[in-house]
Amino acid sequence: TRPSFRMDTPSFPELGLAQPLLQAIADLGFERPSPIQALAIPPAVQGHDLVGISETGSGKTAAFTLPLLQKLDLARHVPQALVVCPTRELAMQVCEEIHQLGAHLPGLHAVPVYGGAPMDRQIRHLRDGAHVVVGTPGRLLDHLDRGTLQLAAVRIVVLDEADRMLDMGFRDEMERLLGQLPDERQTLFFSATMNREVARIIEGHSHDPRRIEVEQA
Ligand code: AMP
Repeated sequence: TRPSFRMDTPSFPELGLAQPLLQAIADLGFERPSPIQALAIPPAVQGHDLVGISETGSGKTAAFTLPLLQKLDLARHVPQALVVCPTRELAMQVCEEIHQLGAHLPGLHAVPVYGGAPMDRQIRHLRDGAHVVVGTPGRLLDHLDRGTLQLAAVRIVVLDEADRMLDMGFRDEMERLLGQLPDERQTLFFSATMNREVARIIEGHSHDPRRIEVEQA
């Protein structure tokens, strides 16, 4: 017997995703969207700001990665999407998932940028024309301050594990990063928990976000 939620779960093609993304989803063997994906992908594809309350293991990474990839103009070699993560490990994982889900997007260039790794290699990769930059707050600001990262063309930003970044003391860095992004952009917050601190940063940096919450699997 199948879990009952599957009865109402739409299929991936019904979520508004483009063919190269559906192909990558099929390659990975994903059969059905997880609940957070079914709820978050359609409004994100349509351009709405989002707050997704969900845990690791819910499929949240693909929930923001698929809409993000759909919005890229691969002919323009400038950062158009930014993902901010609490840790180096998470930044690497997200970048890996971007490469997997973007496997049929020719020329896609996603660059991870985190502390504790040499700057020069990251600078070279950024100079090579990154479409997507995934990084930790301190190192992202470091690149911004040195002029090795430009955010003027960013149209979508994801704050992944926002509650954890706040717990780790990154509030000022998050505020500074968000403050440097163009106003005309889409903002997606993902967080395992909601509290006053999380709500405050969301309120200050998003427009009428849709709130999506899924129960822990
Ligand atoms: P996450 O919650 O983003 O850390 O994802 C947890 C794991 O589930 C990852 O290994 C994904 O590759 C996998 N995954 C994400 N979405 C799906 C899906 N719709 N079907 C099967 N596996 C998935």
